[in-house]
Amino acid sequence: MYRGRIAPSPTGYLHVGHAATFWLAYRRARAANGVLVLRNEDLDPQRSRPEFARAMIDDLRWLGIAWQEGPDAGGPFAPYTQRERREIYLDEWKRLRQGGFVYPCSCSRKDLALAAAAPHENDANDDEPVYPGNCRGQRVNAAEPAGYNWRFRVPDGRAVQFTDLHCGPQQFIAGRDFGDFLVWRRDDVPAYQLAVVADDAAMQITEVVRGADLLKSTARQLLLIEALGLRRPEYFHCDLVRDSRGERLAKRHDALSLRELRRRGFTPQQVVAALEQPATLGQAFDRAT
Ligand code: GLU
Repeated sequence: MYRGRIAPSPTGYLHVGHAATFWLAYRRARAANGVLVLRNEDLDPQRSRPEFARAMIDDLRWLGIAWQEGPDAGGPFAPYTQRERREIYLDEWKRLRQGGFVYPCSCSRKDLALAAAAPHENDANDDEPVYPGNCRGQRVNAAEPAGYNWRFRVPDGRAVQFTDLHCGPQQFIAGRDFGDFLVWRRDDVPAYQLAVVADDAAMQITEVVRGADLLKSTARQLLLIEALGLRRPEYFHCDLVRDSRGERLAKRHDALSLRELRRRGFTPQQVVAALEQPATLGQAFDRAT
């Protein structure tokens, strides 16, 4: 049984770049006669807002994307809003801690701000720098994660490999392409990598469809999946939508938000027709804006 998911973060209005990914996820779930789950990834307390969560559901519906499980629809794996799923993440943190896979880190505040969001949301740099490992040896007597940044100790030099259903064979070297990554922030917010792995497993997701900017995060997540003994889903990372200057649409958020296109009188059919041609999607709306 195919189970897919769309996992928007309510940190702004959805733009056509997001919509292209979600449309593809919807199409793949439908083609497989499967179930599509909508998950509200609202963990980042500084950037997530309830009005954006309402807007994303409304905009996705307007576009014609249908899901069978979600915050609005309920389902067997409720709740579907990450802020309401803390206990699930905490259980996984405890298992990582017991297994000796994570350590407390007291390094800079900057990392703190970065960890709740998926890496591509962190503006100019699509990914975090490799952590130099300063706190690797640090030991504390903590039964709860709050108060430290908890990092997953990656097996240095190990090649993490997977075959992406769209991008083909992938390989990232732990400790070189990415370093010890955060699983819990010191302000007691679970980090993106841990939450996504815990949720995809708990919601029995069989295929993850998302943007190619998260390919490297998949390598991190595979290490977490292995450490926690979870089932590995299939991955389909789609091409990122770019405008005619080759710039990612994410950076042109406002002009190309679904909200704005609706306001300008585009119909869902027109937007979907453009989404069906991701290679020329940026140009299609370039002309329109
Ligand atoms: N909430 C994440 C985002 O908006 C989802 C990433 C994922 O699909 O794993 O990018």
